[in-house]
Amino acid sequence: MTVHFHEEDLPAGVLAPGPIAIDTETMGLITPRDRLCVVQISDGKGDEHLVRFKPGSDYAAPNLRAVLADPDRLKLYHFGRFDLAAIKHYMGIVAAPVYCTKIASRLIRTYTDRHGLKELVRELLGQDISKQQQSSDWGGPVLSDAQKDYAASDVRYLHALKAELDKRLIREGRMELAQACFDFLPHRAELDLAGWPEIDIFSHM
Ligand code: MN
Repeated sequence: MTVHFHEEDLPAGVLAPGPIAIDTETMGLITPRDRLCVVQISDGKGDEHLVRFKPGSDYAAPNLRAVLADPDRLKLYHFGRFDLAAIKHYMGIVAAPVYCTKIASRLIRTYTDRHGLKELVRELLGQDISKQQQSSDWGGPVLSDAQKDYAASDVRYLHALKAELDKRLIREGRMELAQACFDFLPHRAELDLAGWPEIDIFSHM
């Protein structure tokens, strides 16, 4: 289990075929203001890759771009709405097709309102991840080992979570509904970027 750190692009050919887990770290929560600093990727085989972008980056990243835009690669996210918007805004890519562990959790873990990644990993996989570095400066010249470990842990468990969540979605007959939500997610991210960030366009009011 190794965390690989790269500047400005993913090396070619480092990922096994199949679904990939994706997460991003940014300067903050307002996507057009707070630049994309790190994209984390895991192919589920045990290693994680971190791609860090410098201030003023053109986000050319041809290898990363090819992986993110590949329509045959399922992308696993936790709260993909945010990552999809950041990737769309800074790289111009719709990083789909999508699976979101937070949406899946909301559709089947109706006995709780705790759908954070830490809670999901604890309950479904019995592992403990630290969220201590979540609010840290991802834009500096050097990332600490604690930041790298944290960034990697955000993609480390998404394949295993998907396997567990899929069992429950099937058991409760909600897989089709989940898939429809996943398919809509890139459009929900587009609405965030286009000026409807917190407005529910489906609501009556
Ligand atoms: Mn993260």
